[in-house]
Amino acid sequence: MKIGKRKAVKRLRQEGWRVRFCCECGGRLERLFVAAEGKERLVCADCGRITYLDPKVSAGTVPVIGGRVLLARRAIEPGRGLWVFPGGYMERGETVPQAAERETLEEVGLKVRATRPLGVYSYPDSSVVVIVYHCDVVGGEPVAGSETLEVRLFGRDEIPWDRLAFPSTRDALRDLLARWDDGK
Ligand SMILES: [Zn+2]
Repeated sequence: MKIGKRKAVKRLRQEGWRVRFCCECGGRLERLFVAAEGKERLVCADCGRITYLDPKVSAGTVPVIGGRVLLARRAIEPGRGLWVFPGGYMERGETVPQAAERETLEEVGLKVRATRPLGVYSYPDSSVVVIVYHCDVVGGEPVAGSETLEVRLFGRDEIPWDRLAFPSTRDALRDLLARWDDGK
């Protein structure tokens, strides 16, 4: 079911308020006005720690092979059956480019070196910040990983615009094609 953007933003905020326990000590969280920040926060009744509902970082690449961009069809929700460039959540202990390279290897079997940023994509109705890199393919063969149904190369006129998984997929591919036109 699709819902409007304003509703989605509201739901995202409400879901945040449903977090109940402190991840530091397990104490109960209370919704309190924090004067220093001028807004309500989730504050632990036992240790006083504030729980911040931060966004998550997802990192990805747009591998281009022989003038065509490699996309993967997702085997998992959200966006099952739809196309996306390889990417996924960054973990602690790695850099953003390392996360993009690791996810690319896991999802589509390609060893890549992230070269320069293509763009950073964020939306008020999403809790994810997506950071996408241009990359050089340095090894491996395109093959579907466990979270991927299939991988395919798309020419610039073949991008499945109506079957892309996320707004960030659409926006990053638009940016990629815009630069393609510049010959960069
Ligand atoms: Zn606590």
